[in-house]
Amino acid sequence: MSKIDIRSLDFEELNEKLSGLSLPKYRTGQIYSWLYEKGVSSFDDMTNLSKDLREKLTEVFEIKNCRIDTKQVSKLDGTVKYLFELSEGEYVECVVMKYKYGYSICISTQLGCKMGCKFCASAIGGFKRNLTPSEMLSEIYTASADMGVKISHIVLMGTGEPLDNYDNVLKFLSLVTDEKGLNISMRHISLSTCGVVPRIYELADKKLGLTLSVSLHAPNDVIRSQTMPVNDRWGIDELIRACKYYTQVTSRRISFEYAMIDGFNDSSGNAEELASLLSGMLCHINLIPVNNVRENNYSKSKEKSIKNFINILEKHGLTVTVRRTLGSDIDASCGQLRAKKL
Ligand code: SAH
Repeated sequence: MSKIDIRSLDFEELNEKLSGLSLPKYRTGQIYSWLYEKGVSSFDDMTNLSKDLREKLTEVFEIKNCRIDTKQVSKLDGTVKYLFELSEGEYVECVVMKYKYGYSICISTQLGCKMGCKFCASAIGGFKRNLTPSEMLSEIYTASADMGVKISHIVLMGTGEPLDNYDNVLKFLSLVTDEKGLNISMRHISLSTCGVVPRIYELADKKLGLTLSVSLHAPNDVIRSQTMPVNDRWGIDELIRACKYYTQVTSRRISFEYAMIDGFNDSSGNAEELASLLSGMLCHINLIPVNNVRENNYSKSKEKSIKNFINILEKHGLTVTVRRTLGSDIDASCGQLRAKKL
């Protein structure tokens, strides 16, 4: 019989699973704290439990961990990129960035990705499986322990489409924000989606208070469908309607990501069209000069086109930033390290 994935259980579930072992009530709190607050990787690290109990726990439960396969540290800005091995031949990557306000981790939510965006290295090799809540948590515990720092911010922008692994991602969010665990504020968490429309409505209704980022990357369906197959399922009109609903229900602004590709989506006309699409919305636009992953032929927009694009959007009253490039010397963008390994 397979063992129970203990670090995917919330407090109530843990209590229930432990009830079969007839332990005193306070044990649940102790074990929960070892798992979620201290982030231990083995039952043997739970030093206030008897050896006997630790052995019993090992028989019934497993703590999912990851092993550091590769670690790269940027000489430019200290960004750290990890390739973790979850089990034999299964790799995920994550990146830890240092900002003025603290350490932010970009985690993966799936092994591979189904969405097939043409510019994205995560699409290479296709989709393997969803990550469990415990596996997403273990990216954080492993990186944090290795670096010896406390992580205060999370972005779900690594490999995978978080809204395509909806239930596990929601469980992860509730565990990572639990005050008896890592206690990371929802306000410090961003979730990025390529536009899984029905889930955007569901997420809005949960009113979690996290930041929603939407990978838009184009001002119209013709351009968007050329790089993002998801657009054939839910087109831009439907997507924008869902985004407007999200901002109305949550009063939180949406961050639209727009990867700037030279000669493809970066003309003055594209900027005008984008401005009219988003006009009046509670939102922010984050321009990302596209990263040329070896496997595609897209190149970054020229400096001049980016400036021109910003000017036009700002003239229409929109707020725009250009994403800071961190870790540019270490393959720090989505899926690059994993793709190399595979
Ligand atoms: N599946 C989610 C989250 C993962 S990707 C999503 O699509 O939003 C995180 C962000 O990086 C997305 O906006 C994605 O479109 C963008 N991205 C992927 N590859 C890129 C590349 N080569 N250059 C610039 N941005 C890229």
